[in-house]
Amino acid sequence: MIIAIDGPAASGKGTLGKRLAKHYGYRHLDTGVIYRAVAYALMEAGADLHSEVLAVSAALELDPEKFGNPILKTQKVGEAASVVSAFPKVREVLVNFQRQFAADPPGAVLDGRDIGTVICPNADVKIFVVADPKVRARRRTLEARARGEDADEAAVLQDILQRDERDKNRAVAPLKPAPDAYLLDNSNLDIEAGVRAAIDIVEAVRAGRQRG
Ligand code: C5P
Repeated sequence: MIIAIDGPAASGKGTLGKRLAKHYGYRHLDTGVIYRAVAYALMEAGADLHSEVLAVSAALELDPEKFGNPILKTQKVGEAASVVSAFPKVREVLVNFQRQFAADPPGAVLDGRDIGTVICPNADVKIFVVADPKVRARRRTLEARARGEDADEAAVLQDILQRDERDKNRAVAPLKPAPDAYLLDNSNLDIEAGVRAAIDIVEAVRAGRQRG
């Protein structure tokens, strides 16, 4: 089974993806890390983030061993990722890696922006996670502070809104729910309640399939 989880920045889709994968014994891919790794490769080299050619070569040299680098999680790298991810050729290069990950047994949970629409349009279950931007900014700020980073909530909110705009309005693979995605608004849910709601969706889809 393939489970696609999409949603805007800081919606909690990553945590949800990880927890769902654990629950079902599947592998999990946080696809945002891929774009973050590409962006960080350019930043590290002091290269221009707005160069599609350089971003494509960084994407071609993608090294999954580097996905665990904690610097990839920072706000600065996230913002840079949303710049390089708007290049169609960068996205094209990264499609196969993601599809291969999804196809390997026993099953997979992928979270991102375009999993249900572009990467895995035939995913068994698609969930689109949303939450009020102010709630997302609050959560992201607390997370950053817990990691010992300095975080200003108003600046985090600005970053989230700017990223939402860029992700929704880009020409290729814009952030939008697939027509057959289930919407999950977790503005008023804590992590446990969000995970339960997502499992309920997966189980309802499975039960429906067995009946049909
Ligand atoms: O989800 P995360 O905040 O880690 O993603 C960082 C950026 O990478 C997003 O703002 C988005 O521009 C891009 N991204 C994407 N497609 C994905 C995952 C992330 O374009 N599947």
